[in-house]
Amino acid sequence: SELVDLDAEQTFELDRRHVFHSWSAQAALAPMVITKAQGSHVWDGEGHRLLDFTSQLVFTNLGHQHPRVVSAVQEQAAHLCTVAPQHANAARSEAARLVASHTPEGLDKVFFTNGGADANEHAVRMARLHTGRPKVLSTYRSYHGGTQLAINLTGDPRRWPNDQAASGTVHFFGPYLYRSAFHATTQEEEGERALEHLAQVIALEGPGTIAAIVLESIPGTAGIMVPPPGYLSGVRELCDRHGILLVLDEVMAGFGRAGRWFACEHDAVVPDLLTFAKGVNSGYVPLGGVAISAEVAATFAERPYPGGLTYSGHPLACAAAVATIRTMEDDRVVEHAAALGEEVFAPGLEALRAEHEWIGDVRGTGAFWAVELVADRATREPLAPYVGTSPQLGAVVAACKRRGLLPLAAGNRIHLVPPLTTSATEVQEAIGILGEALGEAAATA
Ligand code: PLP
Repeated sequence: SELVDLDAEQTFELDRRHVFHSWSAQAALAPMVITKAQGSHVWDGEGHRLLDFTSQLVFTNLGHQHPRVVSAVQEQAAHLCTVAPQHANAARSEAARLVASHTPEGLDKVFFTNGGADANEHAVRMARLHTGRPKVLSTYRSYHGGTQLAINLTGDPRRWPNDQAASGTVHFFGPYLYRSAFHATTQEEEGERALEHLAQVIALEGPGTIAAIVLESIPGTAGIMVPPPGYLSGVRELCDRHGILLVLDEVMAGFGRAGRWFACEHDAVVPDLLTFAKGVNSGYVPLGGVAISAEVAATFAERPYPGGLTYSGHPLACAAAVATIRTMEDDRVVEHAAALGEEVFAPGLEALRAEHEWIGDVRGTGAFWAVELVADRATREPLAPYVGTSPQLGAVVAACKRRGLLPLAAGNRIHLVPPLTTSATEVQEAIGILGEALGEAAATA
C-alpha cells in the first residue's frame, strides 16, 4: 500500500520537527493528531472519539469520508488525475454547471481557484479592471484570506502584521447589534444605521474611486453576525447608485452552511461577483472560485483576463465538487441544515443562555452558530481578549474535549459549525456537552 503508515507518536514527532504551521508561534505548538474520521466524528492520537463541531475549518459540510465524494475522487484519480487549465475537462465542465445552477440568477460563469483567498484576489482584480477604479471597501470584522490583498481586505487582527498602506483597502463597520458601533438597540436600527454609516464612508472616500464592496454575506470567523434583514439589499442599492460592484464572500457561509445554498438568499440579494471555496466540495481537495455576472464576464469577452492558476479547475477537486453538490441535492442537505438551525440550535442554545451567566449572546442560522462568552452580562466584557485567548476560554474548550466535543474557539466565542449532515441528536448531545463544560469551567474559575 502507498498509504503513509505512521503511528500517532511518530506523526507528532515528525510534525514538530518539520511542519511549519499557519498563524502560530512555532515553539510551543502541540497539534492534535487526527488518525481517523467518519461522518461527524474524528479520533485523536490517543484513540478518543470526538464530535467534530468545527467541520475542521468549517469545510467538511458533508462530514468526513462521505462515500460518494470519496468514490468520486478515487474514480477521477484512476481515470484522469490532472489536466492543465487551458484544456476542457468533463469534471470541470460539470462542476461549473452545477455551481452556476445554484448561485443567484445571472452568475453563470465560474473561474476556479485553489481556495478562498485567491478567489477574493481574483474577484477584486476583476472588479478593478471592470470599473477602472482602485479602492475596495470591506468590514473590520471580517476574514477574507491569507494572501497579500485578501489579508488586507480582512478586518480582523491577522491583518495588522501584514498591513500594506498601498493595498487600496478601506474598512467600515458592518452590523453587529450585540456590540453595536451605532448605539442601536434593535436589529432594525442596527441595519439602518450601518447603512447610513456605509453611505458616509462611500461619500467621504469618493464614490468614483471605489471598485467594489467586499462582504461576507454572514461574517464567519469574526463571529457569525447574521445581518439584519434589509442590510445586504441596502448595500446592493448603495452599490448600484454609485457604480460600485458588490462582491459577496460566501467562502464560509455558502454551500448550505447558513441553511440556504448561499447566505445572500436570506436577503434575496444578487452580487456582481460571488466567491466560494470550502463547502463547494466539502474541502476534500482544495478548490475555490468566483461566480461571475454577465456584465463582468462581458468585460473580458474580447480583452484577455490577466490572471490564472496552474490548478484552476483541477479534475480531482472538481470531481469532488460534482459529487458533493449532487449529494446535497439528492439528500436535501441544505433543508436539513436549515431545520437543524430552527428546530435544534436556536431553542437549544437559548435554553443554555438562560442557564449560564457566561453566555452573553447566541446567534446564527442553519449549522452556523456562535456563543459569545462574557465576564459580565451587564457590561458585556468579553471573557477573552479580541486577540488571543484566556484561561476561562481554554478551560471551556478543554472540558468540551474531555467530554467528547471538539468546538471551534475564536476570541471570546465558541463556534458550533458541524457538518450539515449532523443529526439532531448529535447537535443536542453537543449542546449538552457545552452546557456541562461551561458549568465545570465556571465552577473552577
Ligand atoms: N473568506 C472567508 C469568509 C473565509 O472564512 C476564508 C477562510 O476561512 C477565506 C475567505 C480564505 O479561504 P482560504 O483559506 O481557502 O484561502
